[in-house]
Amino acid sequence: MAADTTTADTTTADATTDAGARSASGVATGIVAPAELLPILLVPDPRLRARARPVGPADADEVRALAPRMLASMYAAPGIGLAAPQVGVGLRVFVMDLQKDDAKAPMVLVNPEIVAASAELVTREEGCLSLPGQYADVTRPARVRLRYQDLAGARCELDAEGLLATCVQHELDHLDGVLFVDRLSALKRNMLLRKLAKELKARARD
Ligand SMILES: [Zn+2]
Repeated sequence: MAADTTTADTTTADATTDAGARSASGVATGIVAPAELLPILLVPDPRLRARARPVGPADADEVRALAPRMLASMYAAPGIGLAAPQVGVGLRVFVMDLQKDDAKAPMVLVNPEIVAASAELVTREEGCLSLPGQYADVTRPARVRLRYQDLAGARCELDAEGLLATCVQHELDHLDGVLFVDRLSALKRNMLLRKLAKELKARARD
């Protein structure tokens, strides 16, 4: 699957999150170029279901080494967000970049938590690098305020709305072992999971 569509902003079906497939090139450039890619785990890998633990001072070196590799893997996929459990690391870290063009704006969020969420909800189409090719409408708070630490350990706050709000909530879910299909009806979830299993099986045969 090469370049997906790069749609202009529309009110509906803005395929989002992990598998945003925004980048036309999919080629990692700039600061992440030398980093080694990490394999992205697919459903039903049990590591996607584990709750990640907070990053402590003793984890600082590991996280500093991990972040560029996660970004490179995300760009290469291509996707717009990637959480550490998706590469088999049980730490509360995720990376994202919502830029649509080649200008990179990578973000690394360590120990993120939602401290406020709007009562207003919004429905967007989501996808996930751990469930390739599967998309569904998910309803979540339209705006959230996030607290996190950056790679240097500095405390940061982020007010997110629109695609950014959807993306941070999707990635935060990963840190709790939750996938976007868990937020669908059982019927819809089972349909997507069956379709995924079938496609992965067909892919393995090729
Ligand atoms: Zn995901």
